[in-house]
Order: sequence, then structure tokens, then C-alpha cells
Amino acid sequence: MSSRAYRTVGLVVAAGRGERAGGPVPKQYRKLAGESVVARSAAALLRHPDIDAVAVVIAPDHTDAFREACGHLPLLPPVAGGSERQASVLAGLEALSAHAPERVLIHDAARPFVPHDVIDRLLEALRSAPAALPVLRMHDTLKQVCGNRVTGTVERNTTVRAQTPQAFRFTPILEAHRAAEGWALTDDIAVGEHAGLDAIAVEGSRELFKITRPGDVVRAARHLSTGTETRTGIGYDVHRFTEGDRVMLCGIAVPHHRALAGHSDADVGLHALTDALLGAIGADDIGHHFPPGDARWRGADSSRFLAHAIELVHRHRGRLVNIDLTLVCERPKIGPHRDAMRRRLATLMTVPVNRVSVKATTTEGLGFTGRSEGIAACAVVSVALPIDDAETPG
Ligand code: MG
Repeated sequence: MSSRAYRTVGLVVAAGRGERAGGPVPKQYRKLAGESVVARSAAALLRHPDIDAVAVVIAPDHTDAFREACGHLPLLPPVAGGSERQASVLAGLEALSAHAPERVLIHDAARPFVPHDVIDRLLEALRSAPAALPVLRMHDTLKQVCGNRVTGTVERNTTVRAQTPQAFRFTPILEAHRAAEGWALTDDIAVGEHAGLDAIAVEGSRELFKITRPGDVVRAARHLSTGTETRTGIGYDVHRFTEGDRVMLCGIAVPHHRALAGHSDADVGLHALTDALLGAIGADDIGHHFPPGDARWRGADSSRFLAHAIELVHRHRGRLVNIDLTLVCERPKIGPHRDAMRRRLATLMTVPVNRVSVKATTTEGLGFTGRSEGIAACAVVSVALPIDDAETPG
């Protein structure tokens, strides 16, 4: 693992066997609408702008399943877990210590839906305490039982349900886990309690439910498909050729005897895609967010523009359904680079490659593209937005 420093890291614990959810595939590798539970959990952390890197702890014999599930995501290398959850978390923290992070969010892979506002609250809480967790208040009356005999009633106002991700200042939780090695504590806040770490409870979310039993997989699939409406956005962009020896297209440097002229790196594909995403959520256009006269964007890597648009989609609790992009030019030939472009776009947008299409056409020698004066790109995207948010985008 490289030792590049990160301020805030995510650690997704996916080393369990998950037999309780039923089916031959461990629950974290079950697919929900085409994407595995573990990929959704990891991507949810990765997409938060304050989380710099995410590692997943996996069972040592799940390497192939992990690569298949998460190969499209820009994650740190997976960490081999232990037989118990606590040992897996310790292994993950030890691996992450190479990056000297200040903060870590430890998350169960079985909770694939992580609202960004929960992460906001956790990171805010870490400013005043070494540990924080999301909780849900109880609405049912709680009983103590012995077998099927009721033996008492629990005070409801002092009891909450603990969720993940649980957030920590990194060094104290690493030391707490080292000190608790071999115990069998069920969550990381409990490990912190043994080391005397104060923890703050922040408001959790019903979306953070855990996939444990067979019915939970159905509930998760329903969560993805109901209560949303699909928005479509279109983006179009053109850049002219100038002197040079390569063009940037969809984040890939394609060798060519010309370059594209522009204030940024002139990646016409990423610009069209960025505008399509902004269009789908009604959030103006790329020129509004990144004025071409602004010196900050001179020569900029256009993946920054795309990342901003994607972040806005996620801020609207939107989910990218698919993208379809057409590049229009006589040369360079796009075909040899198409797969690399699709993979690059999938990584930039944290979606599976099969939701990303890159096509190319010529204009039969007609018009400015036919005269090889420049390249045009047209992108269409679909975004699923929660209906309650869909009324107030922007
Ligand atoms: Mg442009």
C-alpha cells in the first residue's frame, strides 16, 4: 500500500460470511439493481467530499468476488480480515495507519445507503470529541424478557439504536483496538468505551438499515426503486483543434497530431457530460460553475468539473442511472480507446462500467468536424432523484 497521506479515510468491514441473509452469495456481494451491496457502501463513503480514501476489509478467500464487485471504484487495496469483526477492523486500521490519517469512519458493508448529511454530522462531532456515532431514537416501548416472560420495562428515553459509520480520531481508536485485541465487542464505539473515549451521538437515518435477513435484501431493492423519479440531462460541447500531439477525451490522453484548444484541458467529452449532469438536476451549466475567465481553471484537469457535478447530484440524494456519450470527429479514431474511456468514466463517477456508454461517429466529411477543425461531444444522462427532493433542485 502506498503511504500517501490522507486526512479522512473510510474503512468498510466486509469480511463476514453473511449467511443469515440467505442465498449462496455472501450478503455483501449480493447485487441491488446491478451493483453489489459492498460497492454501494464503499462508494457512498468515497463520494463524500471530505473523505479522501476508502479501504475495504474482506475475507481472504473473497478476493475475486471483491474485484468483480468493486473493480470500478478507486479504492485503496483490500485488506485481509480476521475471523471476527473486531479482528477485521484492527487489520484495517493497521493498514490505514500507513497513510497517517487524522480521522476514520468505520462502516459495516451491510449498510449500503449512507446519507451524506449523516457523515457531515459525524465529522462535525469529531471536532469536540474523539468518537461519534449515528443513532436512531426508539419509538416502541422496550421490554426485558427472560425466555418469553416479561421481566421489566426499559426506560426508552435513554436508549437508542446504534448505526454505522462510526467516526473516530484515528490514533485513539487504533490504540483502543490494539488494547482490546482478542475481545469480542460488537461495535467500535464499545471498543472506544473500554479505552475511555468519549462518544457523541448524532442523528442517524432510517436509510442506514442493515441487510441481515433475507427480507432486508428485498427491502433494499425496494428502497432503490420506489420514491424516485428519473431526470434526464443533455450536454453538448465543441472544442477546436490547435497545435499539439494529443487530445484529452473522457479523461484519456489520446495521441494525435493536434490538440484541442480551451481554457482547461479542453476535454470535450467530460464537458458535455458535466453539463448533462447539471442539466438533470436543474443546476445551471458548466460555465456558471467554472467561469472560463477564471485563472484557477487554466489548464485544469476537467475531471474536477465532472467531480463537482457528481457531488451536486449526490447532494440532491440523486443516483446516476446511466450515461450515453457520443464523440463526433473524423480523427482520432475512438474505437481503440473506447474501453479505457468507459472504465475511466465509471471510476470518475463511481458507477459500474455497464452503465457507461461511449460511442463515436463521423459526419461523413461534412461540417466543421468533417473538415477536422474540432471535436464535438453530446452526452445524455439519467439520474434517479427522490421525489421529495425532486421538487426543489438547484
Ligand atoms: Mg468545453
